[in-house]
Amino acid sequence: MTDFHAEYAPAAPPAQLPRAPLSLSCVVPAYNEQANLEGFLRALAQTVQTLTPDFEIVVINDGSRDGTHELAMHLAQELPLRYLALSRNFGKEAALSAGIDHARGNAVLLIDADFQHPLEMLAEMHALWQTGYDMVYGVIANRGAESGAKRLGTELFYRLMNSGNPVQLPPNAGDFRWMDRKVVDALKALPESNRFMKGLYAWVGFKTAALPFVPKDRAAGSSSFNLRRLGSLALLGLTSFTTLPLRVWSMVGAVISLIALSYGLWIAAEAMFLGNPLRGWPTLAASIMLFSGVQLLSIGILGEYIGRIYDEVKRRPIYLVAHDEDHSPLREKS
Ligand code: UDP
Ligand code: MG
Repeated sequence: MTDFHAEYAPAAPPAQLPRAPLSLSCVVPAYNEQANLEGFLRALAQTVQTLTPDFEIVVINDGSRDGTHELAMHLAQELPLRYLALSRNFGKEAALSAGIDHARGNAVLLIDADFQHPLEMLAEMHALWQTGYDMVYGVIANRGAESGAKRLGTELFYRLMNSGNPVQLPPNAGDFRWMDRKVVDALKALPESNRFMKGLYAWVGFKTAALPFVPKDRAAGSSSFNLRRLGSLALLGLTSFTTLPLRVWSMVGAVISLIALSYGLWIAAEAMFLGNPLRGWPTLAASIMLFSGVQLLSIGILGEYIGRIYDEVKRRPIYLVAHDEDHSPLREKS
């Protein structure tokens, strides 16, 4: 473990030790993962077996359009699976929420189904949990393979997100994480329906450790997150966790008003004392266009926030479960 993320670690005391024996829920969101799912779940089960005999794998089928459902139903017969099929594609954040809601272990692992999160790290995550860390997360140490645009966007996003925000979001920390039951219960208690998970993990706090890792290549298929989807995820994050954009526009408004006032005074003075003829409709046209643009932009930003409020007040569920197949060995204990 490194403490290069120490500035993002909340000042929480370590958990009471020793911990109760581990019973682990592995939450695996799956969207069109037919080609990866079987190999992955078997590899995961094999790795987790070395940590504890007491575990379940919670697979959330997030409205896949391929054979993920049939495959998972089949695998549920032989693996310790809790299989939930959502009624449509709700997105990864909702799928993770569904997994967290249904997990029964005293620790929960969130891991992608595409082999990008190295299974070799589980032993270290487990060890850190046992030494009193309540949350251990993977930090992407190398974004080498990603496009310049994606990297630039990511950089900009974390800058915006973390400027003046009391809850600091560790850059490049993903959804690959090990959480104690305490953390899981805290996450479950958060009422919002806009679930920007990266923000929620940071918001709940607790004793946290960061583990750098280099994501592997996706085993099969391609990422569901294109630039457009990443963009809307970033917008969700910003509007759910910072009001900085609103403040920025108040500042811009204030500065522009000051400039306008001084310029207005100057024109009046010029006309009255220097006797200049009143000219300058190009200035007028240009400034009207500029300020209409500024106004529309700021109304748009306001609208983003109002849209979020609208989503929240509707109080719709975050996801709907269409099928629930429970072969979890942790069932009897809950
Ligand atoms: N995923 C999901 N719902 C979605 C998109 C993705 O449950 O709408 C799952 C997907 O099956 C995978 C994980 O989320 O297990 C990460 O998705 P992906 O590999 O496409 O994203 P990336 O690794 O590029 O961030
Ligand atoms: Mg992936």
